[in-house]
Amino acid sequence: MTCVIRLLEEIRRTAHYIKKKGKTIGFVPTMGYFHEGHLSLFRRARKEADVVIVSLYVNPAQFAPQEDFKKYPRNFKRDLELAQGEKVDYLFCPTDKEMYPQPFSTFVSNESLSSVLEGKSRPAHFRGVLTILAKLFHLIEPDVAYFGQKDYQQALIIQKMIKELNFNLKIKVLPTVREKDGLAMSSRNLYLTPSERNRARTLFSALQQGRDMVSSGIRNSTEIFKKVKSCLRRTPGIKLDYLEMVDPETLEKIKEVHKRALLVGAIWVGKTRLIDNLWV
Ligand code: AMP
Repeated sequence: MTCVIRLLEEIRRTAHYIKKKGKTIGFVPTMGYFHEGHLSLFRRARKEADVVIVSLYVNPAQFAPQEDFKKYPRNFKRDLELAQGEKVDYLFCPTDKEMYPQPFSTFVSNESLSSVLEGKSRPAHFRGVLTILAKLFHLIEPDVAYFGQKDYQQALIIQKMIKELNFNLKIKVLPTVREKDGLAMSSRNLYLTPSERNRARTLFSALQQGRDMVSSGIRNSTEIFKKVKSCLRRTPGIKLDYLEMVDPETLEKIKEVHKRALLVGAIWVGKTRLIDNLWV
């Protein structure tokens, strides 16, 4: 049975009690509307930890005013059932009032990695992500927290925060779970109309094409992107936000690939913004 907790003091007490009994906590922070990507994290936590805590909170601080905070998909009953199916022990669903008592003035931000890629298109995004996670990590004190490779930049910035601010937990990053045609699973895929859904896989195809070019021996990213971007631009209804080959540690652009690199991209399909990445 999954136990639903809404109050901060209650999750703090519960987590404290679990730790006092010598049990480990595996924690999965989410914004809900669960799909197989989320469930893969729950399953790994279930396998590795004594107690699994999932947070379900659409964090207003990581959305800009013009973004989709209001229409972000929410379905508590469905999420509770899915969490129950994966034997999640606690589902923590705090309120905005408790999470951000007004006036709220303290934020955590990363000064070097959060202004590129996603951060360039969404300037306050990672500040919101780090702030909520710092709060959740303090309240729950998990042994391990699980994240998805789909949000690579997020996972990297979180790892930096853990290290530089001396949080006492381990971060595990698990592979991206995809639909049959390769589209990375995302709660936002729900926004897509059937015809947009067909076009959405273009991002994965572009990343694949880039990866294949590297595998075939082409090392120069300008050469790679010329072809891949022209392919993307030919797809109607798609707007490219960015497509880059970056160093996985610094997120700096790579001109010539000679070691492991990451292809990262974001596109707009109609009004929906999708992101994805692939190792090369
Ligand atoms: P979200 O609810 O979108 O904030 O995601 C919660 C966690 O699930 C984050 O660590 C995401 O990176 C991860 N996640 C989202 N989509 C996927 C996916 N397709 N595969 C694996 N993990 C994912």
